[in-house]
Amino acid sequence: MDTLPCLGCKGLCCGPVPVTENELKKIKKKIKTMPVKIRSELENQKRYYGTCIFYDTNNDRCGIHSVRPEICRMFGYYKELVCFRKPELATKNMNTNDPKKHVGMLTIDFTWSYFK
Ligand code: SF4
Ligand code: SF4
Repeated sequence: MDTLPCLGCKGLCCGPVPVTENELKKIKKKIKTMPVKIRSELENQKRYYGTCIFYDTNNDRCGIHSVRPEICRMFGYYKELVCFRKPELATKNMNTNDPKKHVGMLTIDFTWSYFK
């Protein structure tokens, strides 16, 4: 599959995202099992106001990549979630018959204190 040209964006599209209960659980587990040094380094990075609390600015990537919410995985590949740097990749249709039950917004409703 063709990939998005994310390197260099520095979290441009990583703002608050909706999360499900199950996604929160997975993120919590990941955060709790991170080596303290790495976790603390990730938590205390300087980010733009509104940038996702898990965006790893120093390494220009998602800090919780393996457990990132589904909406983050979909971004850029669905017609409703277009990346302006490669809009031609947004070809998939959303399954509107299967709405996910979101419990809140990561970064707004769930901040670092929730995950520790
Ligand atoms: S999805 Fe698009 S805007 Fe977001 S980081 Fe990747 S290239 Fe940049
Ligand atoms: S969880 Fe990762 S991919 Fe999703 S918005 Fe946050 S930093 Fe970006």
